[in-house]
Amino acid sequence: MSTKKFVEAITDMDVDFSQWYTDIVKKAELVDYSSVKGCMILRPYGYAIWENIQKELDTQFKQTDHENVYMPMFIPKSLLQKEADHVEGFAPELAWVTHGGHDELAEPLAVRPTSETLFCEHYSKVIESYNDLPKLYNQWCSVVRWEKTTRPFLRTTEFLWQEGHTAHATAEEAQEETIQMLNVYADFLENFLAIPVIKGQKTEKEKFAGAKATYTIESLMHDGKALQSGTSHNFGDGFAKAFNIQYTDKNSKRQYVHQTSWGMTTRVIGALIMVHGDNSGLVLPPKVAPTQVMVIPIAQHKDGVIEKAKELQKRISKVARVKIDISDKMPGWKFNEYEMKGIPVRVEIGPKDIEKNQAVIVRRDTREKIFVSLDSLEETITTILEEIQQSLYEKALKNRTEKTYKASTFNELKQLSDDKQGFIKAMWCKDLACEEKIKEEAGLTSRCMPFEQEQIAEECVCCGKKAETMVYWGKAY
Ligand code: AMP
Ligand code: ZN
Repeated sequence: MSTKKFVEAITDMDVDFSQWYTDIVKKAELVDYSSVKGCMILRPYGYAIWENIQKELDTQFKQTDHENVYMPMFIPKSLLQKEADHVEGFAPELAWVTHGGHDELAEPLAVRPTSETLFCEHYSKVIESYNDLPKLYNQWCSVVRWEKTTRPFLRTTEFLWQEGHTAHATAEEAQEETIQMLNVYADFLENFLAIPVIKGQKTEKEKFAGAKATYTIESLMHDGKALQSGTSHNFGDGFAKAFNIQYTDKNSKRQYVHQTSWGMTTRVIGALIMVHGDNSGLVLPPKVAPTQVMVIPIAQHKDGVIEKAKELQKRISKVARVKIDISDKMPGWKFNEYEMKGIPVRVEIGPKDIEKNQAVIVRRDTREKIFVSLDSLEETITTILEEIQQSLYEKALKNRTEKTYKASTFNELKQLSDDKQGFIKAMWCKDLACEEKIKEEAGLTSRCMPFEQEQIAEECVCCGKKAETMVYWGKAY
């Protein structure tokens, strides 16, 4: 029986990846558009995914001794202007509040695009001695950046995120923290979202406004485009000097603190869609899926079917997040609906299965049908969920490996950029002029200078001078 007609089909991902993406965010009921351009409504299913992301990351932050705080959403203009690079970098993306009620404000307030300045002002008041350090703060909030082009999750005007802001006694400690949090992000993407990442440092051109160094995790989408999925910044003592954040050390000397910040946003939900999704919709790794198992009774009007299905639901609830659909929609409609939503496993149970003391398990990722004895239901579900988590990661890694190229000459680089979409590894002299030329003439941006280096050639792919580093280049969302 064809069940396609019960659920509207989505655009084929190989025909129009961008439209496929838009179809999924709408039809999986993740978001709705709002009347403000670039601001999205997170619907219950989209928000449930964010809540799972939040829960897991928050646990990781607490395990590394961070505390949550909450800062105001407004930043006075004068405060924002204290660090020159920072304000210059964010100026084109700021939203301003100029009136309170009917009255014009004496000083305009920016809606926070990020909260370094607020944390700095606070730190300058509460840090006095070495005993007050380190300060390991994080906040969960939304920020606003007036983006020119927007897409649900990937780039929105207002987005949800966490921003960690820390202050340390020494430069070494700040650097350690910066890398520690990058590793927390990398592990989170790989183990929880099943998305492999490249860890590395951003170039001077791409680093955060006001940072001494920016580190990033870069992931590759199914279509071969890159996505910056999380960043961790080392500020050195630049902000401390601008905001006068000093402490008295053990020798009674005044010292500037060394700071970091790091952020991850609702953008990673876009990564989940574009890394794992297929032509039937979303595919969610079990660890992040709000519902891991959906029980669907077959021929549910027959005696005892619904009761048995409920009994299975109850048993499965001991090992997984499970729901049951006993609505009067056709089973085929339900199958399509939950495939669209990317629920990792569905369990079908009908009169014939009950007779045979079995259930049918269908994996969302491979569509594989598995007949399981009801005696070993819980164990089998547990194993299958683990297998799905693992195999989604491997599939994503395979896609990335297949779409990672090397170039040793400028012509090769341009050719690859024209013919293929993916990561291109090539050497670079660290000269801004070469980075800009590669962007203009090959249409590629530097994604990062990876920690794991390779010697592809001796010379810069662009100018032929001695290379300083290998870079991952790509087209990015
Ligand atoms: P930043 O504070 O600029 O380092 O940004 C932190 C992270 O936020 C980046 O690594 C991006 O993944 C993400 N991000 C930046 N701009 C947006 C946006 N407009 N919408 C969603 N996520 C964003
Ligand atoms: Zn060069």
